[in-house]
Amino acid sequence: MRILVVEDEHKIANSIKKGFEQESFAVDVAFEGSRGYDLASSEDYDLIILDILLPEINGLEICKKLRAQNIHTPVLMLTAKGQVSEKVEGLNAGADDYLVKPFAFEELLARVKALTRRPKDSIGLVLFFEDLSLDTLNYEVKRDGKVINLSSKEFAILEYLLRHKNQILKKEQIISHIWDYNADILPNTVEVYIGYLRNKIDKPFPSKKALIQTIRGFGYKIG
Ligand code: CA
Repeated sequence: MRILVVEDEHKIANSIKKGFEQESFAVDVAFEGSRGYDLASSEDYDLIILDILLPEINGLEICKKLRAQNIHTPVLMLTAKGQVSEKVEGLNAGADDYLVKPFAFEELLARVKALTRRPKDSIGLVLFFEDLSLDTLNYEVKRDGKVINLSSKEFAILEYLLRHKNQILKKEQIISHIWDYNADILPNTVEVYIGYLRNKIDKPFPSKKALIQTIRGFGYKIG
């Protein structure tokens, strides 16, 4: 999961980044509205956390511009005062949710997780494929009832594959959802991580069907 944080208060922006990185998210930060808008309209994010009061372009204008360009990435607005008119204005600008500052990180995390949950995953916070399960809340992966320990990047890749099961995912797509803008990742890094994942979720179960498939020349899929 990759998110964008547009927030001019460096301290708040950096603490949000740090918090989400600990939760296996890739996080880009923009401290100015124009940079935030450029990233939001050119990169592929799973969610945008958008402050309203920003230099240059404010959050409401950014949100309106994105929606006008048919970019429907979920937006969570950060509102300073919690005034009713500001919340209404944010939602009318196309935001999906808002949070009043100051906020507890736990609440921000819970709201982000709720917004990034797709309707088809509404069965809960646990993603399944055959005898594999991935618990997005407790960060627990199991196959055939056995707990599998994954690194944070391995977990993030497996979660991404499971959220798009039966779809072929290109290496570039995987990179753009798992690593942030500053990470200099080559496609063969994805191959390396897929190898690590296979060693953990497929190799220890030789009598079972391999879950991760390589589609030569295209990418990977589960399903
Ligand atoms: Ca601000």
